[in-house]
Amino acid sequence: MSVLELSGISKTYDVNPPITALNGLDLSVDPGEKVAIFGESGAGKSTLLNILGLLDTASAGEYRLAGLDATKLSAKQTDLVRSEHIGFVFQDFHILGHRTVAENLTIKLAISQVPRSRRQSLISSTLEQVGLSHRENSLGRLLLGGEKQRLAIARAIMNEPALLLADEPTGNLDSRHAHAILDLFDEQADKGAAVVIITHDERIARWAKRVLTLRDGRLHA
Ligand code: ADP
Repeated sequence: MSVLELSGISKTYDVNPPITALNGLDLSVDPGEKVAIFGESGAGKSTLLNILGLLDTASAGEYRLAGLDATKLSAKQTDLVRSEHIGFVFQDFHILGHRTVAENLTIKLAISQVPRSRRQSLISSTLEQVGLSHRENSLGRLLLGGEKQRLAIARAIMNEPALLLADEPTGNLDSRHAHAILDLFDEQADKGAAVVIITHDERIARWAKRVLTLRDGRLHA
């Protein structure tokens, strides 16, 4: 079964004149698949990312995620499904600067309703995985750029989401750091996650198993 399946997804913004950002888009991604999505500015990448991440709804079409009909969920169910099944790596990381590294992760686990008794061990093992154990008690704002990136990834992969979504995760990184990030994504894919990355980075195109381009509101191989 696919992790996600979009069929006939359209998104029209109700401005004057209306803008159709996505137009009958189809996409199906299986467990363990690594997909890179390219597209020029204004092609609809953010719109697609928001719909995939359940942060926005389509105007038309169907979206199934982890076997659920995402278009039929209540707001509360949507929040739960998002926190349980989707790991996001946002372009600007969304790290809380006045909280410690561990607290940044605890907040995510609380939202995902992971029992308190399991949180510390999950945090420790994930920080070890991304090489940030020594920073557990540092404030978010004191992290270096590459460390923030790794914390963002730690937060996204901590509860092993079915879908890992990333927006330009290797932007500004030298090749050593970029490869370290892609290695972390590989580990998630090996565990069965579908990995979907919106990017301009040719290194990700070489790494991904499937490269798609968003154009005219649809995806092209
Ligand atoms: P990309 O991320 O590839 O640059 P976007 O998804 O941001 O593309 O935008 C696709 C199109 O939809 C653009 O024409 C953009 O101006 C328009 N658009 C995006 N968000 C909105 C919005 N909230 N309201 C109106 N138009 C929007």
